[in-house]
Amino acid sequence: MKDDLMYINGEWIGKELEKLEVVNPANGQVVGTVPIGGEDEANQAIASAHAAFQTWSQTTAYERAMYLKRLNDLILKNQEELAQVMTLEMGKPIRESRGEAASSATYIEWYAEEGKRIYGETVPSHIANKRMQVWKRPVGVVAAITPWNFPLAMLTRKMGPALAAGCTIVIKPSGESPLTAVKLVELCEEAGFPKGVINLVTGSSSKIGNAIMENEKVQKVTFTGSTEVGKLLIRQSADQVKRLSMELGGHAPIIILDDANVDAAVKGVLASKFRNAGQTCVCGNRIYVQAGIHDVFLEKFTTAVDQLKVGDGTNENVDIGPLINQSSVDKVADQVADALSKGATLVTGGRELTEEGGTFYAPTVISGVDSSMVIMQEETFGPVAPVQKFETIEEAIRLANDTKYGLAAYVFTESVAKGTLLIEQLNFGIVGWNDGMPSAAQVPFGGMKESGLGREGGHEGLEAFLESQYVSIGMD
Ligand code: NAP
Repeated sequence: MKDDLMYINGEWIGKELEKLEVVNPANGQVVGTVPIGGEDEANQAIASAHAAFQTWSQTTAYERAMYLKRLNDLILKNQEELAQVMTLEMGKPIRESRGEAASSATYIEWYAEEGKRIYGETVPSHIANKRMQVWKRPVGVVAAITPWNFPLAMLTRKMGPALAAGCTIVIKPSGESPLTAVKLVELCEEAGFPKGVINLVTGSSSKIGNAIMENEKVQKVTFTGSTEVGKLLIRQSADQVKRLSMELGGHAPIIILDDANVDAAVKGVLASKFRNAGQTCVCGNRIYVQAGIHDVFLEKFTTAVDQLKVGDGTNENVDIGPLINQSSVDKVADQVADALSKGATLVTGGRELTEEGGTFYAPTVISGVDSSMVIMQEETFGPVAPVQKFETIEEAIRLANDTKYGLAAYVFTESVAKGTLLIEQLNFGIVGWNDGMPSAAQVPFGGMKESGLGREGGHEGLEAFLESQYVSIGMD
């Protein structure tokens, strides 16, 4: 693997640059390096993407689909290697990594086809000798900045629609997990994309970020990451009015009503809360359970949590891998300590697992939490499930919406009427109703409020890389 190089204008470069070490959080060992690029490399990559845009944007959707389908096939063919790299560099259990590789391919495959349906519009004119049309144009050079927690899926969710729309791209992956991106770009090269269409820059996030935001050739920035960095990029984008898509942080509520199927709720909450050791933007962060079902849910849920196996993600039967680094473990431990100091009860877990040799935290359940506790206000990004009892649906809606975030929410109820009325009042961009894993390539994913701007996935995800050009045709 070209894991000590970056990819610009069809060349693997950066041999002479200092290297950033990528560390396996399961054991602290260095698993690879990437070059530390900065402004120069970012600007070279942007120039290359800009040059390539002039021809790539003129290809047909069918031609672009051909390249994307080749890439889809290569991702599936290399699913195991991609999964191994992912698990080694950021720790997620290998079964989840395989699942991410497969779902990442669906974004490439789906947009290969969807790109053929960029129709534009003919609009009836109010004047007899005029015709009115809306043409669709690719937005231009795109910069894609991605987080470490889904090192592959967050890239393909952007690349699929951007490339299908006729845009060219500069990728900047997280320094915590850049090796998966290197492997993906190798596959892009093998798929035969023309030089400059896809470029990869690794290194200093602030220097590369500044170069992207200051370079007029970048028309669109698509970012997935924290709300804090997202806000910085939004501010930086103002000078050039760059197009933005922002997939930011979340603080998902899970609401379980008295009439829920308890076993299905336990299964759904486990999937939502503990996937990727709780390090997902859509993972349930606050669990509200109605009084009539609270005790039985808590008991069954705790039994299930106690069965989760923690360990090195390369081990086939591990359910919970390490957290990405020590500061993540410290943040989780602080949130649990804060909740316990304010009166919450520790039901299970509640400690760092130092004997494992990496940055692990035990799957944890705490009950009797309330809104005064930090864990009910901030993203946890760890395997901790705080459970709060509520009496009425109105109370659950008020508690769930009492946040600056609006990404995902989950509802468990067997009643169509209660579920519908409840969801209509939840201010979240994605709702899983009796479903702990709602994401898919063909549907819009994104948040309300401070969880973001725009949507990825579905036809909305393609629209994000297009400009509407209204053409008025006079026929005097
Ligand atoms: P992050 O710290 O915001 O980093 C995200 C990306 O931005 C990384 O590539 C990072 O590079 C880069 N970055 C950092 N500072 C930058 C700057 N000044 N200019 C330009 N780029 C900069 O987020 P993270 O810790 O990687 O990911 C976790 C966060 O992402 C959570 O808040 C989670 O909720 C959110 N997330 C959201 C979604 C969604 O779809 N809404 C999906 C996944 C994750 P370095 O890592 O190299 O510094």
